[in-house]
Amino acid sequence: MESLAGDRDRFLSFLREWASRSWRWAREERYRLVFRVQAAALRAAREYLDSHGFTEVLAPIVGPVTDPGIRGAKQATIDFYGYEYKVMSSAILYKQYMAASLGRMYFLSPNIRLEPLDSAFTGRHLAEFYQLDLEIYGASYEDAMRVAEELLYHIVKSVRDELGGELERILGRSLEPVRPPYKRLSYPEAVKLARELGCRQPMGAEIRWECEKVLSAHIGEPFFITEYPRGARGFYDREDPERPGVLLDFDLIYPEGFGEAASGAEREYEPARVVARMRESGEDPAKYRWYLEMLRELYPLKTAGFGIGVERLTRYLCGLRGVWEARPYPKIPGIAPTP
Ligand code: AMP
Ligand code: MG
Repeated sequence: MESLAGDRDRFLSFLREWASRSWRWAREERYRLVFRVQAAALRAAREYLDSHGFTEVLAPIVGPVTDPGIRGAKQATIDFYGYEYKVMSSAILYKQYMAASLGRMYFLSPNIRLEPLDSAFTGRHLAEFYQLDLEIYGASYEDAMRVAEELLYHIVKSVRDELGGELERILGRSLEPVRPPYKRLSYPEAVKLARELGCRQPMGAEIRWECEKVLSAHIGEPFFITEYPRGARGFYDREDPERPGVLLDFDLIYPEGFGEAASGAEREYEPARVVARMRESGEDPAKYRWYLEMLRELYPLKTAGFGIGVERLTRYLCGLRGVWEARPYPKIPGIAPTP
């Protein structure tokens, strides 16, 4: 027990030093390549989206509300001329009307989530990260899944074509682009498989990170988990009107144990249902006045989309230990940097 606690403390002080003194490692050959891979991945993503009818939009950084569905993380706030504003945990709520305006849109923007200290150990959580967040007007969650798999394929292929040799030589990473369509597991199928693989996973709850990792290590290529149960996700993932309790949503999962790449869904757009879902998830509808007004004025605002984390993508492309290797001056959950 003591040695486990010792390991934990040692790892945390390593992370604190890593995060506070990133100029010491950022010039190493290995990290120079990581940052070039990240830039190549973003270039490939923009190339794919721009040539498929998407328009890049500048995202808000702060606003009266932000994404509440952030699984145990806390939102950061700022004093905005006497009002409490939120720093975007994701700009999800601001995508829908821009999708109605432009048809297909995306943001590439930073997010702040004050994640709990324990998530410093997952290799997948930062307190500040970038997200590529897109939304399509009139689309179903299946349409969004097809964009997600094509986008990931295009990114992996472009990075491999451009930097595959250096990835092998410097990082020992061989990247194999897997052609879509990717396998689709429904939520109950994923729970069943996780249990068969020896992971304790309650039915009806969000898939635990450990179980997602086990599934991700078991299935040899990227795959989707679809149709999470209501209660596992934010109020904005649409509930299937034909199957109460089932959400029209998905996660895209990387192989090799890297876990979640992206989360997406069709959006709940009936104002009364949105209010009911807000209440059910402990949100006060009064705080979302502008959002509900928008849903009423633009009714029926049918959209679907997803968000993919940039540091997790980089981690997967480079085969890194943690997302903290994919940012200069990374913000580690629960750890203030040494001044
Ligand atoms: P979510 O809406 O919570 O599923 O977030 C969308 C995507 O952003 C996820 O699929 C991840 O790729 C990424 N992401 C979410 N939270 C974090 C975090 N704390 N650190 C790094 N990436 C994250
Ligand atoms: Mg998610």
